[in-house]
Amino acid sequence: MRVLITGAAGFLGSHLADRFLADGHSVVGLDNFITGNPDNIAHLAGNERYEFVRHNISTYTYVAGPLDGVLHFASPASPVDYLEHPIATLKVGALGTHNALGLAKAKGARFFLASTSEVYGDPLVHPQPESYWGNVNPIGPRGVYDEAKRFAEAMTMAYHRYHGVDTRIVRIFNTYGPRMRPRDGRVVSNFIVQALTGEPLTVYGDGRQTRSFCYVSDEVEGIYRLFMNGDAEPTNIGNPNEFTVRQLAELVVELTGTKSPIVTRPLPTDDPKVRQPDITRARTLLAWEPAVSLREGVMRTIEYFRQVL
Ligand code: UDP
Repeated sequence: MRVLITGAAGFLGSHLADRFLADGHSVVGLDNFITGNPDNIAHLAGNERYEFVRHNISTYTYVAGPLDGVLHFASPASPVDYLEHPIATLKVGALGTHNALGLAKAKGARFFLASTSEVYGDPLVHPQPESYWGNVNPIGPRGVYDEAKRFAEAMTMAYHRYHGVDTRIVRIFNTYGPRMRPRDGRVVSNFIVQALTGEPLTVYGDGRQTRSFCYVSDEVEGIYRLFMNGDAEPTNIGNPNEFTVRQLAELVVELTGTKSPIVTRPLPTDDPKVRQPDITRARTLLAWEPAVSLREGVMRTIEYFRQVL
């Protein structure tokens, strides 16, 4: 296969490219480096099955040659990033998804949308099955990301139903691991970087809000299986093991042996109180489930940040 990955220099996009290349496929990577990092794809220079194009998918996009898949992973994805780039976030979810779908249709390629657990907003159903429609504040600061991804899902289903494009939608839950940017702003990278640099670990609010953290190799395997063997219905891919943010801070303190204190900071607006994927669908459809524990994954991520800091 020859597949296009948008957001190819990002955390997930770059790991996904590696996964396709490892199976003998060819990858065209596309990124404009708003939040992507050239270091994430440096190891692919000289790989004859990998091409890179610097381009913004939110503008008209032409790609030469045949494509079997278009995987749309471009978007600021950390709350800090989409607050800093609100318009670009709305555009890449809306215009970028439209362009990527148009490209898939023109090439007769399968389309794959990277959606998010944020479509569930601050959820009133727990854990979240795919059938839950969510509780999103459209005009809050997170709305730029949440609504862009909800629009992207609607657009993907419209291309599927109206144009008959073969489509997939993954709802990605909190994922962490090597190649996150140290100043990405998300909780796992923040805590590890703070611990390793001797800064206080910043718990927002009382730290009793929960998240369910998936190690990147598990997430990418689920995504790859969904692309290959899934269907058009949205599918949650994430790790159902749920932790409070304070538990995560304590784990990072233990595993790094840091002397940094844990301090509290104000809770950001509309911060979801709980989040846990119901992965029944992925288990049944894809015979997939996560294998890496939080302790193991955080240890591997600490090793990565020790090298890059
Ligand atoms: N958080 C925190 N300290 C930080 C960064 C984040 O306590 O330095 C909290 C944040 O308020 C949220 C959770 O950790 O409750 C996960 O935040 P993240 O930005 O990683 O992603 P989200 O799941 O909110 O999209």
